[in-house]
Amino acid sequence: MKTITVGLVGVGKIARDQHIPSLARTPGIELAAACSRNAAVDGVRNFATLNEMLAAMPELDAVALCTPPHVRHALAAEALAAGKHVLLEKPPGATLSEIEPLIAMAEEKSLTLFATWHSRFAPAVIPAREFLADARIRSVSVEWKEDVRHWHPGQEWIWEPGGLGVFDPGINALSIVTAILPRPIFLTTASLEFPANRATPIAADLAFTDGEGLAVAAVFDWRQTGPQTWDIHVETDKGRLTLSSGGAKLAIDGAAVGIGPEAEYDGIYARFADLVQTGRSDVDVSPLRHVADAFMLGRRLEVDAFD
Ligand code: NAP
Repeated sequence: MKTITVGLVGVGKIARDQHIPSLARTPGIELAAACSRNAAVDGVRNFATLNEMLAAMPELDAVALCTPPHVRHALAAEALAAGKHVLLEKPPGATLSEIEPLIAMAEEKSLTLFATWHSRFAPAVIPAREFLADARIRSVSVEWKEDVRHWHPGQEWIWEPGGLGVFDPGINALSIVTAILPRPIFLTTASLEFPANRATPIAADLAFTDGEGLAVAAVFDWRQTGPQTWDIHVETDKGRLTLSSGGAKLAIDGAAVGIGPEAEYDGIYARFADLVQTGRSDVDVSPLRHVADAFMLGRRLEVDAFD
């Protein structure tokens, strides 16, 4: 099978921390080019814009978009129009509607469009889904609390419209919840805390239910210093399932369950290679839909300015 060549767009934190190393490790797929307004990647051809990259390297198979969400649609449309398979970092767009024409274009041109949710590739997710498949679920509680100053230094876009604020990490929790629960959930109430000087929330308190009245509570907070919390607890008739460290650890009634090592982005690129080779797309917008619902239904509270 021919190796799939990838051009990376946006050489920021996630491109450096995860995409470049995973592309180097994953069989069947390789980094061939990068395009960046400010940076260069060693060992591959570098370009200032996607347009230049597409013109100079018509042989490129795919494009991976690692930019902030508000510029992703235009880049994805340009890459698909040029006949490239496209991998979207999460969230797949700044709005739900902008994703629809991308799905249609990929289908029309028989190209792969992959909306990635990296947390779904965490090692606890599939074992948790299997545990819950035949359990009677009583309640779900999500706690996603981290220090924005530590994880997002200098990233102004997260505070701008479309940047999602605390939902930038919170959507990862929602991507896991929507993957492990056997039935779809929907939002019933939400309160969102907006710093007085910012356009996106720094904290959110959410309540969901499902068709059978399950209570799902989620708290996202970007003001947590010290130990960081990325936990999901599910009370069931088979015991209390706890998925912690963002899905890297699993416990039942407090006892650790042995699972595989963390390899989220290796999993993403293995899946992308498989989707391309088998001519399929994978675009699930459900985590983004819950965030859109929170912005639509949420009560807005103003809190201290954030500097
Ligand atoms: P980042 O460090 O700010 O990098 C984003 C890069 O996108 C920038 O360095 C820039 O690269 C490029 N870019 C193009 N147009 C831009 C614009 N108008 N404004 C700002 N940057 C622009 O952000 P990131 O943390 O890598 O996040 C990128 C995406 O990955 C987000 O959707 C985020 O949710 C997702 N993600 C992030 C993490 C994480 O831990 N940080 C984890 C998982 C997913 P050039 O200068 O090279 O053009």
